[in-house]
Amino acid sequence: MVILGRQGSGKGTQSLRIAEAYGCVHVSTGDMLRAAVAEGTELGRKAQAVMEAGDLVSDDIMNGIVAERLAKDDIVAGGVLLDGFPRTADQADALERILTDLGQSLTIAVDLDVPVEIVTERMLSRRRDDDTPEAITRRLDLYEEQTAPLLEWFRSHDLLVTVDGVGSEDEVFARLRAVIDVGRSDGVG
Ligand code: AMP
Repeated sequence: MVILGRQGSGKGTQSLRIAEAYGCVHVSTGDMLRAAVAEGTELGRKAQAVMEAGDLVSDDIMNGIVAERLAKDDIVAGGVLLDGFPRTADQADALERILTDLGQSLTIAVDLDVPVEIVTERMLSRRRDDDTPEAITRRLDLYEEQTAPLLEWFRSHDLLVTVDGVGSEDEVFARLRAVIDVGRSDGVG
């Protein structure tokens, strides 16, 4: 599964609940990068400034990290919920190749839809280290430019379902479960 949505849409929180409910592994590329920054690895050193500016880490780096992670046994066994990847057309193509090489395929892509004004308010109030007002604006701009066009890619592959992300955590989770249950049982339409 893939979950898409603007930063601040509640993707991270809902992803944890979905992974728990469906027994799949939650892979957040943002969490992986933040861990690399905290550990001071080579990847972390490369990614830190890019993340602080709200820019995107290069496709080459991201595709490599994800290919490596998806090949691990836990994912091959339990399936995966990808959160924060793909974010560009190049990453979507890479994901298709990675999954094909592993003999796997996508089941569903959920777009958690929350309007720009609401996510902006939420992000300003959560105050993560990389959440400066400039970085927030930059990330939302990049989402419209690079990630929103991916919705069309998923739609054309018959994978896309849009879920209204405005409401309480429980309400949104109930909506997500409903579409995931349908998507998993008979393919998505
Ligand atoms: P997130 O937690 O998904 O909001 O990601 C935090 C930051 O990590 C983003 O603003 C990007 O700088 C970087 N990042 C995470 N995932 C990706 C990705 N798939 N492609 C490029 N950069 C990413």
